[in-house]
Amino acid sequence: MFQGKTALVTGSTSGIGLGVAEVLAGRGANLVINGLSGDPTQTEKLRARLAADHGVEVAFHGADMGRTGDIEAMFADVLERFGAIDILVNNAGIQHVAPVDEFPSDKWDAILAINLTSAFHTTRLALPGMKKKGWGRIVNIASAHGLVASPFKSAYVAAKHGLLGLTKSVALEVAEQGITVNAICPGYVLTPLVEKQIPDTAKARGISEEAVRRDVLLAAQPTKQFVGIDEVAELTAFLCSGAAASMTGTALPIDGGWTAH
Ligand code: NAD
Repeated sequence: MFQGKTALVTGSTSGIGLGVAEVLAGRGANLVINGLSGDPTQTEKLRARLAADHGVEVAFHGADMGRTGDIEAMFADVLERFGAIDILVNNAGIQHVAPVDEFPSDKWDAILAINLTSAFHTTRLALPGMKKKGWGRIVNIASAHGLVASPFKSAYVAAKHGLLGLTKSVALEVAEQGITVNAICPGYVLTPLVEKQIPDTAKARGISEEAVRRDVLLAAQPTKQFVGIDEVAELTAFLCSGAAASMTGTALPIDGGWTAH
């Protein structure tokens, strides 16, 4: 389906990004994976496995998505190697939870830079190649928090709402050029990041891990089930397919009913 195309998925060494990378490579796309990896051996293992499993070219770049210079250096490398990025998935993201009047300024800056501004930079750097080819797909992994808010997540909610604004604006700019721009808004997904919080939360609240999943994490999610990484990955692949050529500027919830409240 994506043979001959190159996909860049930011923050793809773990969680949702890795699931998306896996599905796109499974459909034939060459890949650029990215993430903050402390262990180059592990990263190389992952890169080599993805290439071998799917028979595609895979490059890794460790650009810090909070740094404009790193993003520009990554694009210089990958454009030289692959010519263009046909599919761009802006997925890298971080979280910090604190009341707004106690929110550390450096955390605010980092969340805005990684969760929002990085998508501006990758988009502006990928678009010239997409315009030249008259085809491109940009998928922004936002969040249910792009549509509704929760307390104590001001930076994350502001960044994800901003990402939906960027999605719509860019979609309108490139609508006549074969390029679509959409956002996916997942509810809770059981990624390594979320999994790690469960035992600590159970201990802190004196409740079982099952109660943490049901009554804390999934309190707002009517299905009381986590969204699967594979579900987000399949929706991303659909948005990149020919069948979704007329879908652009959308924000698609995949949240077990959360935003129906
Ligand atoms: P994760 O922590 O499992 O993975 C995050 C990835 O981003 C990793 O590969 C990490 O190395 C990378 N990363 C972090 N900071 C980076 C930086 N500065 N530069 C480059 N890479 C960086 O997280 P996840 O749960 O898979 O989340 C992925 C995206 O999905 C995020 O944008 C998140 O906001 C969004 N999301 C997650 C959930 C959820 O419940 N897990 C729900 C809605 C939206």
